[in-house]
Amino acid sequence: MSQDDKPSKSHGRLAIGASAQPRDLMTDRPDLAGAWTARVITLFPEAFPGVLGHSLTGRALDRGLWQLDPIDLRIFGEGRHRNVDDTPAGGGAGMVLRADIMGRALDFAARRGTASAENWPLIYLSPRGRRFDQSMARRLSKARGVTMVCGRFEGLDQRVIDHYGMEEVSLGDFVLTGGEIAAQAMLDATVRLLPDVLGNEASTEEESFSDGLLEHPQYTKPAEWKGHAIPPVLLSGHHGEIAKWRRQQSEAITRDRRPDLWDAYEARNTSDKPKKR
Ligand code: SAH
Repeated sequence: MSQDDKPSKSHGRLAIGASAQPRDLMTDRPDLAGAWTARVITLFPEAFPGVLGHSLTGRALDRGLWQLDPIDLRIFGEGRHRNVDDTPAGGGAGMVLRADIMGRALDFAARRGTASAENWPLIYLSPRGRRFDQSMARRLSKARGVTMVCGRFEGLDQRVIDHYGMEEVSLGDFVLTGGEIAAQAMLDATVRLLPDVLGNEASTEEESFSDGLLEHPQYTKPAEWKGHAIPPVLLSGHHGEIAKWRRQQSEAITRDRRPDLWDAYEARNTSDKPKKR
């Protein structure tokens, strides 16, 4: 289609913002009004969308079901080398991301798009944060978007975390070299919960964690492989029996592998007894 053709339908979603900054300064995608947005402040904007550009999340990105707005922290750096970090106050190894520089990036991020701060969590990826889980993914998917700050080196000056009231979120009890992989993991878990991203809606209702249990084992063809058969009930065609078997497996696996999840599940099921399923 040439430039002079009638604007296609999708132009109707291009947002007209009041921002003084050129909207597409750092992204080659136009802002889609109303689309769930991940704004990511990082020293490595080229690492995005990364793995999120593939498969379901990638197709959803292409279809405008969500959008990604990576913001290059380096642009807000100081001096000829656009420095963003300095040595830790009080001494010690490594470097710390400067509060003033991150502050400028956060102020810039807040002016992006037409969104107000309401229902828009601001997250600092950090091993000291609350552990990310499925319920947090669900909460983020119900927001209008999220701003994520990826740390590097020894992390971020505490004052910027406090001043902006950032929520610290961890991917798990280990230390990564930067927040980018954590951000992508959390965004993957969140984006797949957005409406229309997964073809089969039911699949997010039955999977692990959706009702506090781990998922039952899965099998597919061939019916027999290296002498191992598929559990016969799955080939029986009895939907009731299959559902019962899967439920038992789910419960057994959860009890065995994750006593913490199992205890919480049992506590919930005894407190609100008449429960479906
Ligand atoms: N000195 C810090 C670790 C810094 S690691 C400490 O001991 O707590 C550098 C950056 O990687 C962090 O600022 C954070 O953004 C990211 N990161 C590292 N581990 C992470 C984790 N488990 N979850 C989320 N982000 C993490």
